[in-house]
Amino acid sequence: MDELIKLLDKNLKYINHKIEDETIYIYVKSNRDKCYCPDCNSLSKRVHSRYERSFQDLPIIGRKSIIILNNRKFFCDNKNCHKRTFSEKFDFIRDRAKRTKRLEDEIINLSQNMSSISASKLLRKNIVTIGKSTVCNILKKTKPSAK
Ligand SMILES: [Zn+2]
Repeated sequence: MDELIKLLDKNLKYINHKIEDETIYIYVKSNRDKCYCPDCNSLSKRVHSRYERSFQDLPIIGRKSIIILNNRKFFCDNKNCHKRTFSEKFDFIRDRAKRTKRLEDEIINLSQNMSSISASKLLRKNIVTIGKSTVCNILKKTKPSAK
């Protein structure tokens, strides 16, 4: 499992997982011991707090996968920086997103040549819990001119 998780990001560490019906839940945390402030680029090792962040990823052995990340907030100790704290960020997911980038790519690939209703039905079957309007929104983001 840890190897699978490291394919998503080498800074992630597998904690445990559970399988419920068609979904696999994977609990992970970061193994970085320091982070850079996204605003001033100062290095911080001081953890402010932890919070849970969950998002969906590509399916594993035919099951939908939900990753529950024990995410951290760090202090920014640079007095000239307007940020007091910042959240640890990862390349595989956008801020506040509920799906990994590689899952969004998969949704785009599957949805491009069919209606969003058919796409959401197909996706819901064994890939991701998703509604028609979310499919539309993801497609819109990739083609800003499309209505
Ligand atoms: Zn800063």
